[in-house]
Amino acid sequence: MPYPHLLTPITLGAITLPNRVLMGSMHTGLEETGDWERVAEFYATRARGGVGLMVTGGMAPNAEGGVFPGAAGLYTAQDIANHRQVTARVHDAGGRIAMQILHAGRYAYSPNCVSASAVKSPISPFPPKELDEDGIEKQIGDIATAAARAIEAGYDGVEVMGSEGYFLNQFLVRHTNRRTDAWGGDYANRMRLPVEVVRRVRAAIGEAILIYRISLIDLIPDGSTWDEVVTLARAIEGAGASVLNTGIGWHEARVPTIATSVPRAAFAHLTGRLRAEVGVPVITSNRINSPDVAEGLLASGMADMVSMARPFLADPDFVAKAAQGRAAEIAPCIACNQACLDHTFSGRLTSCLVNPRACHETELVIAPTLSPRRIAVVGAGPAGLSAALTAATRGHQVTLFDRATAVGGQLHLAATIPGKEEFRGLIDWFDTMVARSTITTRLGQTVTPQDLTGFDEVILATGVTPRASGIAGEDAPQVLGYRAVLQGAKVGPRVAVIGAGGIGFDVAEYLVHHGTSPTLDATLWRKEWGVGDPAQTPGGLATGGPQPTPPARQAWLLQRKPERPGRRLGKTTGWIHRATLQAKGVKMLGGVQYDGVSGQGLAITVNGQAQVLPVDTVVICAGQEPDRSLVAGLAALGITPHIIGGADMAAELDAKRAIDQGTRLAARL
Ligand code: FAD
Ligand code: NAP
Ligand code: SF4
Repeated sequence: MPYPHLLTPITLGAITLPNRVLMGSMHTGLEETGDWERVAEFYATRARGGVGLMVTGGMAPNAEGGVFPGAAGLYTAQDIANHRQVTARVHDAGGRIAMQILHAGRYAYSPNCVSASAVKSPISPFPPKELDEDGIEKQIGDIATAAARAIEAGYDGVEVMGSEGYFLNQFLVRHTNRRTDAWGGDYANRMRLPVEVVRRVRAAIGEAILIYRISLIDLIPDGSTWDEVVTLARAIEGAGASVLNTGIGWHEARVPTIATSVPRAAFAHLTGRLRAEVGVPVITSNRINSPDVAEGLLASGMADMVSMARPFLADPDFVAKAAQGRAAEIAPCIACNQACLDHTFSGRLTSCLVNPRACHETELVIAPTLSPRRIAVVGAGPAGLSAALTAATRGHQVTLFDRATAVGGQLHLAATIPGKEEFRGLIDWFDTMVARSTITTRLGQTVTPQDLTGFDEVILATGVTPRASGIAGEDAPQVLGYRAVLQGAKVGPRVAVIGAGGIGFDVAEYLVHHGTSPTLDATLWRKEWGVGDPAQTPGGLATGGPQPTPPARQAWLLQRKPERPGRRLGKTTGWIHRATLQAKGVKMLGGVQYDGVSGQGLAITVNGQAQVLPVDTVVICAGQEPDRSLVAGLAALGITPHIIGGADMAAELDAKRAIDQGTRLAARL
């Protein structure tokens, strides 16, 4: 049997799960659309894919606990009916599902937020109201009532959210709990709230599964000590939890915890340490995205179960494919956050860069075609690959061309960036899927219009060409394009990067880095970000702070817009890129006028001050233009192609849009 540890059943209380895989809680925004058929189909799709147990997105137990006003919850009879639609569909599909109860406390984006003390969070504009005794009792009662309603609605259990800096966590640490009554002061008082919540929830749900998500490392100053974590875990076990799930880092922590540059399973050792201290099973989490990694963690005794959340957006059939020996066909979550968390935090529906059907299951349907056609796809970047695979799945006869000898397009450049190694897995997945499909490949062939006669449909996915900057001296030998640099061209010890978009930032990271990528070396990564051991410093921040390795070269990153470079990067990851470059001493300048390249370096004017940056190399990352060089020749032959990806529109192009557009076009051809 493949993955013998992962696929072994486990019993939690009265329920036996068929395997050790938990789909972790994710806020998708689906509930807030009011379309519960869509919510039900999202979970039912994943239940059909064989996951052992799913946890819903966080449901508020009351209005003041909602992450934002109007956040989904479980308060009324209508709410129960809506949730029952979900649980019934999941059970019909043979799955199991628990509801997460999430009280946001001071993280609630509302002037009515409440907490242990009136200490405002650095990531919210609203100071919380300090709860009095009655207020605390009301919160406990509301959480227990929500748990009882969850069981009434058909859930197999509940998860009590006690980590990530939310309400229960806020009582645990002195940083946010300044109380002097029976709910504050020494640790026995500070942990009273979560323990009481678990006791009352257990009483409300009978034998159903009770998961408690415990923060193992807060990654904030004055966070919990390891002794406190263990004390809490044992008390939570005593109060009736069936299983402990891992939480890592408060939301306000300045250490990345799930982004693509975080090493795989970077925090699993802490779950392993907790496992030795408690009697109930423990679940590990964070940056686990392959059955091999998950199996390895269970085999080495780090945990009893593995939680993966975003991987189930990327591929609902993760477990089924692993069980059938088809792991190479699992669409990998590359931890980019681009279509999931970035959407969530900007009020948009969650989806997935590699799987645009995620949360769009009822609307983006890929059905067999009734009229198979011969389709040519030019360009095997993400746009062309998605179109080709979707069309082939539907029964079309597809020929896929690329002048390169391998599929992947610009993803190959992305994968060269330290911290973006996961893009390699996406290329490998595309490669596997093409090889196992009916697609005819014509790699290593530069296509001309004449090659495209004889097809019923032509799809151009020819991508982009880098934009020239127009700066005086751009033709000088010390000026390089980003493609040449990422393909290994020699760069001097002092470099200026022109253009601070996504590619400019990536190229700057590439240029200041040397040696092993910290993403591939968890010890090095912890040192770079100042992650220590909660057994040594409360909260687990290293006493010496971050200790980045020295930069490989001196670098400037420049843009003309008079704003802070990096402001338009991903909502949940832009700060990581800025912090990485700051740590390497990269000088980031906005409001730059380029005066020209000369033997002395790059002449610029900033705030009316002319200066020459004494650089040896200038790298141009000034955006791109669509490559539509085949269009006129095709028109002359009477062929009107479909144009997708960068070839369609280069502005604000990314792999998310390329894959979405390719998939949607092929779904309707
Ligand atoms: P491309 O990937 O450019 O593919 C076009 C393909 O067409 C190429 O393989 C080319 O060889 C082929 N082709 C062109 N003309 C012909 C012809 N005449 N005959 C045969 N073949 C032809 N996006 C993200 O979403 N997230 C990121 O983190 C990210 N990081 C990036 C980092 C870097 C350094 C770079 C360079 C890009 C990054 N991107 C990222 C952008 C992403 O890679 C592109 O948006 C995406 O690849 C565009 O897809 P596409 O299919 O339209 O074009
Ligand atoms: P971009 O985001 O459009 O940035 C281009 C940069 O070049 C801007 O900083 C722009 O700033 C500058 N520029 C434009 N014209 C210029 C000119 N004539 N001379 C000098 N500077 C000029 O494009 P990109 O960085 O090439 O990225 C392409 C796409 O890949 C992006 O849309 C992005 O979404 C995607 N990508 C995403 C990620 C990610 O992490 N999500 C990473 C890499 C790439 P000024 O005009 O202010 O100078
Ligand atoms: Fe993973 Fe990116 Fe998809 Fe989110 S959008 S699930 S991080 S691949």
